[in-house]
Amino acid sequence: MIADMVSPERRAFLKGVAALAATASITRPRPAWAQARPRFTDHPFKLGVTSGDPLPDGMVLWTRLAPDPLRGGGMPAEPVIVQWEVAEDEGMKRVARKGSTVASPDLAHSVHVEVDGLKPGRWYWYRFHAGPESSPIGRTRTAPAPGTPPERLRFAFASCQHWESGFYAGYRHMLNDDLDLICYLGDYIYESSFRAPPVRRHDQPDAKDLETYRLRHALYKTDPDLRAAHAACPWVVTWDDHEVSNDYADDHSEYRGDPRTFLQRRAGAYQAYYEHMPLRRASLPRGPALQLYRTLGWGGLAEFFVLDGRQYRSVQPCGEGRRGGGQVVEATCTENVAPAQSMLGTTQEAWLFDGLRRAGSRWTVLAQQQLMAALRQRDRSGADAYWTDGWDGYAGARQRLLAHLRDQRVPNPVVIGGDIHSFWVTDLQVEPREGAPVVASEFVGTSMTSPSIPYEAFARFLPENPHVRFFESRQRGYVRCTVTAARWLSELRVLDNVADPRSAISTLASFVVQSGRPGAQRV
Ligand code: FE
Ligand code: CA
Repeated sequence: MIADMVSPERRAFLKGVAALAATASITRPRPAWAQARPRFTDHPFKLGVTSGDPLPDGMVLWTRLAPDPLRGGGMPAEPVIVQWEVAEDEGMKRVARKGSTVASPDLAHSVHVEVDGLKPGRWYWYRFHAGPESSPIGRTRTAPAPGTPPERLRFAFASCQHWESGFYAGYRHMLNDDLDLICYLGDYIYESSFRAPPVRRHDQPDAKDLETYRLRHALYKTDPDLRAAHAACPWVVTWDDHEVSNDYADDHSEYRGDPRTFLQRRAGAYQAYYEHMPLRRASLPRGPALQLYRTLGWGGLAEFFVLDGRQYRSVQPCGEGRRGGGQVVEATCTENVAPAQSMLGTTQEAWLFDGLRRAGSRWTVLAQQQLMAALRQRDRSGADAYWTDGWDGYAGARQRLLAHLRDQRVPNPVVIGGDIHSFWVTDLQVEPREGAPVVASEFVGTSMTSPSIPYEAFARFLPENPHVRFFESRQRGYVRCTVTAARWLSELRVLDNVADPRSAISTLASFVVQSGRPGAQRV
C-alpha cells in the first residue's frame, strides 16, 4: 500500500539508499581511524596467503594478520590498513593491479580482496603489506575466458585433514603436480579429537565458539606444507560437518538438543571459516547463515557446482537417541526416500537444478562432501542396511538429482566427494542395480590424514554393490584430475606413511572417463 503512495523517482532513490547501505556494511570502507602505520609484536603473516574462486578477470586474495596466531592472533583491537598488489611476474615487477583494504578486528584481521581487471587464463603473483611488514608471495591464476576451449585443467581434490592423525605431506607433493586449482571438499579442521593415539596434538580446547574455532583454523594453517599449497594456486572450498561438529544437520547437532544453542555455535564456526578461507563477500556470514554454494566456470571445458550438504539438510532419518549418523536396517527405516528428506534444502536444490538445466561446458562437476552412490551394507544379523548421514539417508533427493542429470542430458556429469576417509570410484545410476544405465561418474577421495574406515568390513559389502568399481580405505592421500575435452583422468595418490612429514607418494590406481561415455575405466 505504502509503495503506491511513493513516486517512481522517490522509489528509485530509496532503492539506491538501501543498496548503498547494504554495500557499505558489506565492503567495510576504510574507517577514518584505521591504522595506516601499525606496529606488530612479531611477523603478522604467519598464517600465509591464499587465493580462491578464480574468474576470467580475477580471484579472491586472502590473508590474516596474526603475529601470535595460537593465542588469539596478537593484534590490537583496531582496524589496520593492508596494501595488496598483483603482478604478472614472480619478482613482482610488472604490477597489474594494486589497492588497499582494511583488516578489521571483528573479522579477526582477515583480508578478502576481490581482484578484477586481470587477463583471462594466465598466472599471476600477489602479496600484501601492512606497516613495515610484507607477506610471502603467492601464485594464483585467472580462469580461461568463457566459451574458450582450454587444452586442459589440472586440479587436485582433498578432504578430511585431522591434525592429530598425521602430517600434510600430500600437500608438499601437490606442489609438483602442476595444478591449476585445489578443491577442498570438507573437514578442513576437526573440532575434537579421535580416540586413536595422535601423531601430533591439537593441544588446545575443543572448538565450540568463535574464539576456539579461530584457534583451530589458526593451528591448521601453522602447518608449512598446508601453507605452501595455499600459496601455490587458487583453492575452491566447501565444508562438511567437522568445520562445526560431527554429523550435524542444519540446526541440529548430533546430540539434538536446543537448536538455538546449536545455531549460536554454528554462527561462531561459520564466521571463523569465512575468516580463514578465500571466499567472496557473497559468503560473508550473517549470524548462523553463510552462503557457500556457487558455480565456477573453466572456459568451455568445465563448470563446477560447489554444493553445501550441511547447512540446509533434513536431520538424518530414524535418528532417535543421540546419534546423528548411524547404520539402520533398510526395511525398518524408509524415511530416507521421503520427498521431504532433503540433502541440499529446497532453495539450493532449485538453484542447482536450474543451473544444471543450462549447463553447457564439456564437463559438469558436482563438488560436494560425501559419497553419492548407494552403498548397501549388512548389519550384524545380515539384514540389508544403510548409513544415515550420507546420501543413502537422503535417497529420494539423490534419485531426484540423478534423474534430473539424465532427463536434462547434462553434459558429462562427474561427482567428486570426500567424508568417508576412503577412495570410491562408482557408477551413479537412477536405479542402482546391475545393468541400469550409468548417469554420472563418481570419484571420492580418501582422507588427507583422518583415520581409515575398516577395510575388511566394507570390502565385504562390495559384491552387493556392483556399481562400485573401486574401493580402498587403507591409505591416505588425495585425487589428481587431468581434464581435457576428450577425457577425464583421475589418479588416486597415496602416501607411504601419513605419520612421516617427508613421506613419499605414489599412484595407487588411475581411472579414465571418456567424454560422452559415463562410467570410469581403470587404466
Ligand atoms: Fe572426515
Ligand atoms: Ca565428514
